[in-house]
Amino acid sequence: VARNRGDLEFHQAVREVLDSLVPVIEKQPQYAENGLLERLVEPERQIVFRVPWIDDAGNVQVNRGFRIEFNSALGPYKGGLRFHPSVNIGIIKFLGFEQIFKNALTGQGIGGAKGGSDFDPHGKSDAEVMRFCQSFMTELSRHIGPNTDVPAGDIGVGGREIGYLFGQYKRLRNRYDAGVLTGKGLGFGGSLARTEATGYGTVLFAQSMLGTKGDSLEGKTVAVSGSGNVAIYAVEKLQALGGKAVTISDSSGYVVDEAGIDLDLLKQVKEVERGRVADYVARRPGAKLVADGSVWDVPVDVALPCATQNELDDKDAATLLKNGCVAVSEGANMPSTPKAVEAFQAAGILYGPAKAANAGGVATSALEMEQNAGRTRWDFATAEKKLAGIMEDIHSACVETAEFYGKPGDYVLGANAAGFTRVADVMIAHGIV
Ligand code: NDP
Repeated sequence: VARNRGDLEFHQAVREVLDSLVPVIEKQPQYAENGLLERLVEPERQIVFRVPWIDDAGNVQVNRGFRIEFNSALGPYKGGLRFHPSVNIGIIKFLGFEQIFKNALTGQGIGGAKGGSDFDPHGKSDAEVMRFCQSFMTELSRHIGPNTDVPAGDIGVGGREIGYLFGQYKRLRNRYDAGVLTGKGLGFGGSLARTEATGYGTVLFAQSMLGTKGDSLEGKTVAVSGSGNVAIYAVEKLQALGGKAVTISDSSGYVVDEAGIDLDLLKQVKEVERGRVADYVARRPGAKLVADGSVWDVPVDVALPCATQNELDDKDAATLLKNGCVAVSEGANMPSTPKAVEAFQAAGILYGPAKAANAGGVATSALEMEQNAGRTRWDFATAEKKLAGIMEDIHSACVETAEFYGKPGDYVLGANAAGFTRVADVMIAHGIV
């Protein structure tokens, strides 16, 4: 704790993982030997840097950039970049730590990392975003590479930002390393189905969980939070499977649309116009914007938190349970507070933690790396089929691992233990490094 003073989200993530590993260590004490746990919680490398850039008014702006290369036991570091004013080192460390186990769960040979900046893309012009991305990459470029560290998008980093980052990397390094970033545009090495992957995967995970009870998403009413990349494609897959998303949100409030979210309008507002959920409501008869309160107050069968960390607390969990919610599948990273998770588990509902439920994004990023390395390109159906297979494998690994450690149905234990043992076995094989 002393070494990571103030890194609140990082403490939260480490505690959640280590607490749930108690049955693993009891059964296989070798995993606590030779400082393995101490090494696991210490990033291999932490890079913090200045990002100076000039805004449209000619003023010099200074942001802080981060890249935490957490664990490379299983492969090159892999994890997204987040641009949001709330970003600090504790948030990047929590995300990087979670990424280790998530990436291990995908079974694809990728290590764990995360990065980003406290830069706020909201309200910035394209030119400002480009200058920021170029300055950010000027430092980051010396630390990354297709076999070293492969960043991707996250909050505030989508196709536009990845394009600018890639352009600057190529210019600085004079290398067309298609596999140095994922989430690229389709014209320069991007993979079909990558944009959809995280949201689709989260819904597929919910479907698999419901399947263990002989149930499905067909006919279910669902609350989705957020209105970005993950939320949009969660709504899309949900509709394809016969469920009805009745909410979306952003930091200004949440939308209730009892008729079901209009996906085309949502994409137009968010992806084309870069607008807000208020713009959606303005053009959607019957939808209302609620500025105060919580999106989880809306009575639903299933909840898909797809915005950000700690967006669903114990009060929200109690409301969801009171309203008869039977499943929660996390699209965002660590969206439920520890007390909310406790409440879901105590009530015995299906609870799919982020590192399993949202692993579809990074899994498809690894598929993008595979296509780049092979100089090939799969069609949408091929990429989506692989994604669905990976999500099914992750679900099975969680279920079987939870059973192995004597807690059937505990997806938290299942995900943490399955991810951890894969990484730990390789760390042991590599010796004390
Ligand atoms: P986007 O930037 O596309 O969208 C983020 C959405 O969440 C926006 O609607 C945003 O609203 C809202 N949001 C963000 N921060 C806050 C906040 N502090 N309070 C309220 N609302 C907030 O990001 P993504 O959809 O890519 O990411 C969403 C979540 O999914 C994150 O937790 C991310 O780590 C996780 N994730 C994403 C993956 C991906 O492939 N993109 C992969 C795995 C996990 P506003 O515009 O008002 O800020």
